[in-house]
Amino acid sequence: MSDFKSLTAPLAPGATIGILGGGQLGRMLALAAARLGLKTHIYCHDKRAPAFQVADRHTCGEFDDFGAVKSFAKACDAVTFEFENVPAETVEQIAHICPVNPGAKALRFTQDRCAEKNFIKALGLKTAAFHAVTSDEEARSSFAKLGGRGVLKTERLGYDGKGQFKVASAAEAVAAIAAFRHAPAILEAFVDFDFEASIVAARGGDGSFASYDPPRNEHENHILRRSIVPGGLSRAQVAEAKDIARTIAEALDYVGVLAVELFVGKDGALLVNEIAPRVHNSGHWTIEACAVSQFEQHVRAVAGWPLGDTTRHADAVMQNILGEEASDWRSYAKRPGALHLYGKSEIRPGRKMGHFTALSPLTKPPSRP
Ligand code: AMP
Repeated sequence: MSDFKSLTAPLAPGATIGILGGGQLGRMLALAAARLGLKTHIYCHDKRAPAFQVADRHTCGEFDDFGAVKSFAKACDAVTFEFENVPAETVEQIAHICPVNPGAKALRFTQDRCAEKNFIKALGLKTAAFHAVTSDEEARSSFAKLGGRGVLKTERLGYDGKGQFKVASAAEAVAAIAAFRHAPAILEAFVDFDFEASIVAARGGDGSFASYDPPRNEHENHILRRSIVPGGLSRAQVAEAKDIARTIAEALDYVGVLAVELFVGKDGALLVNEIAPRVHNSGHWTIEACAVSQFEQHVRAVAGWPLGDTTRHADAVMQNILGEEASDWRSYAKRPGALHLYGKSEIRPGRKMGHFTALSPLTKPPSRP
């Protein structure tokens, strides 16, 4: 690990940040980098990747094509990623050539739900009760310990509710593990939460830390529908959410923006659901409501710049534009607010095609970053 490159000085304007992944998050990172005079080079397997349209350069390649990955890294001054399932080996290949942030440690813990939950627990933070499950017998015995209802999730490669089933009996737990073909899984207790929230935060290479106001997040069919700020958390809960993000970021030696998805219990407790080692859908409202958005903040962190001002200047509701809703772009364009369309070539059911942020005057002073 010691011969991995690290930044020795902040990147000057004109330098190139490489981004692994070319979806909407990569696209919004590239747009934010351009505003700071930094160039971007996107690496993605999809030749129609939305980020290609707005970046200085792109390479169309697979993550296991190490020849292409290395050539890409040689053309960059620093590299980051827009999604967490980049293979560890790809990141290592690049890290020998130029600095990669967030680093391998963040990926190791967030690519595996069991490792992630154990890591969170070891930090003294709360999560739903959980058990690792690989066999029918484990599914049965773990379900018996959970008391009533659970959610079975694949250990790896799950997002937006993919690779998970709600289960209400031992027989359903066994059927779910069979549907996963007995791939390693995690059985979590079902949390009867009051609402969901998230905290989007950033850590700089110098150990500095900044966070945004935590939004309340509403999901439909496991996909984020809208994020609302202020999120309705109490002052104490906001402070606790920020402490949770800081604790996690420090333990991961993290550099960049991360999001922590939270369940707010009916008793007011904050349970960590998931860590996203990247910019996050629930932080899109920061583009219009804060001086420095989550995207610019991430670029600043990976470029070795000082973190920016995260103060919120407006209340905001960010709504995702999903699937066919994007055909209605004319009516979104008429509404007061900010329309973002991601330039995806094809509409598919539930696909994130864009988002719309409506702003209104601050109803109460935001909590300090
Ligand atoms: P995840 O892929 O783990 O982020 O889960 C997607 C969504 O499923 C979450 O945002 C929740 O709405 C729901 N969910 C996941 N895990 C649980 C759980 N243990 N209890 C209740 N709801 C859950």
